[in-house]
Amino acid sequence: MSETDVLIVGAGPAGVAASIALSQRGIAHALIDRALFPRNKVDGNAFGQDLLAALDRLNRADIMQALLASEHLLACADGAWLFGDRGDRYQPSLAKGVGQAPIYTMDRQAMDALLLSFVDRSQVDLRLGSEMVALQQEGDRIAAVLKVDDRTEVIRAKLVIGADGARSRVASILLNRVEDPTDLALTGQTYYRNVAGFEQPHIEAHYIQPLLPGFLFIAPLAQGLFKVGLGTRADRLGNNATQLETLFNQAIAAKPWLQDRFSAAERVTDLEAWPMTFGGSAGLARSGDRVLLVGDAAGLCNPLTGFGTAKAIDSGRMAAAVAAAAIASGQFDRATLAGYDRDLQRAFDREFQFSRRFNRWNESPWLMNFVTGRSIPRRLLSAVKVARRWQQLVEV
Ligand SMILES: Cc1cc2nc3c(=O)[nH]c(=O)nc-3n(C[C@H](O)[C@H](O)[C@H](O)COP(=O)(O)OP(=O)(O)OC[C@H]3O[C@@H](n4cnc5c(N)ncnc54)[C@H](O)[C@@H]3O)c2cc1C
Repeated sequence: MSETDVLIVGAGPAGVAASIALSQRGIAHALIDRALFPRNKVDGNAFGQDLLAALDRLNRADIMQALLASEHLLACADGAWLFGDRGDRYQPSLAKGVGQAPIYTMDRQAMDALLLSFVDRSQVDLRLGSEMVALQQEGDRIAAVLKVDDRTEVIRAKLVIGADGARSRVASILLNRVEDPTDLALTGQTYYRNVAGFEQPHIEAHYIQPLLPGFLFIAPLAQGLFKVGLGTRADRLGNNATQLETLFNQAIAAKPWLQDRFSAAERVTDLEAWPMTFGGSAGLARSGDRVLLVGDAAGLCNPLTGFGTAKAIDSGRMAAAVAAAAIASGQFDRATLAGYDRDLQRAFDREFQFSRRFNRWNESPWLMNFVTGRSIPRRLLSAVKVARRWQQLVEV
């Protein structure tokens, strides 16, 4: 049995950011992950200026520089291309900041291993290949049972930070979270070679039926591969991930411009399924007695764009600040930690509310056909508020 102040469950971007921010404050903590790194993560692999800004807020310009210098990074100078159900294309003008590209791609295996390499090993008790299988309150501590190979170990901590991604076990055990199927997406991804039409590096999102309000994405990667994936609301598929493969093939076969993209393409891997919780709803609790949730565990994946990595880093930093205050005051109760929920609401609520509303309208093709289309009303209305807000939202 070992003791620590804070136990972070999950060493993805959210857990790593929390660890770095705790180390900056000199707080003893353990960081565990069931995976050995580099580990796979189903993801579109795209990020923009928001991720670089989140690393800057974490005071880690060195990590930003390491990302930008990585051999796994691909600068997508042509940004993001969005397609509606008729195949019309819309290209939002995106901000170019540090590094001079509006969008980058980087394989998440490489990115997450790079982020993890920056945790301060002199301060963190890092345990990979350690799965948290149980959590229970024991007096003024939470005891976590870890499965390591065929052994079990116990860590006792004053506070747990749940950074264990979508379908967080920390949230279900310590906050009794019950999933809302309308907040859950089923997603799948695979790797391809030779997808056509990417001579100008860019990423693509195809908002098409039968996926709406979800979409199909294509992201070119540095080593000549393409990450291709799709996501749709879980209740649309009866929460059954085995249907993703059929849906994927149907979506490509139904659209001539996608058939062109894939006519000479070669699929390299099977479709891998992954859940996505895109909450952001004000009703979702992100804190409780002796627990804070960060990243996807806190439902911080944007339902419209599917982007969540920058928010994972921001929430990890914010949770560490709240954890430090709790340790200083010795107060770990729900009322004290509720300030963290308010911090997240202040930072992200506007964006999530807009995205959720947009997605409600986006269940039929007219909205994205309008946004991407070239009709006279579309041109006239391109300056109205909704279009500008949409543009700000994807201005990552
Ligand atoms: C299909 C898809 C496409 C996406 N595309 C993009 C994109 O292009 N850009 C973008 O910014 N975001 C994208 N996202 C969102 C992004 O992947 C997440 O927001 C981000 O990974 C959240 O980071 P995290 O650290 O919270 O969780 P994760 O990265 O999921 O990390 C959670 C970690 O917890 C560990 N873990 C889980 N349970 C346990 C346990 N019981 N014990 C120990 N360890 C545990 C896991 O092994 C994992 O390493 C996409 C998501 C999906 C599903």
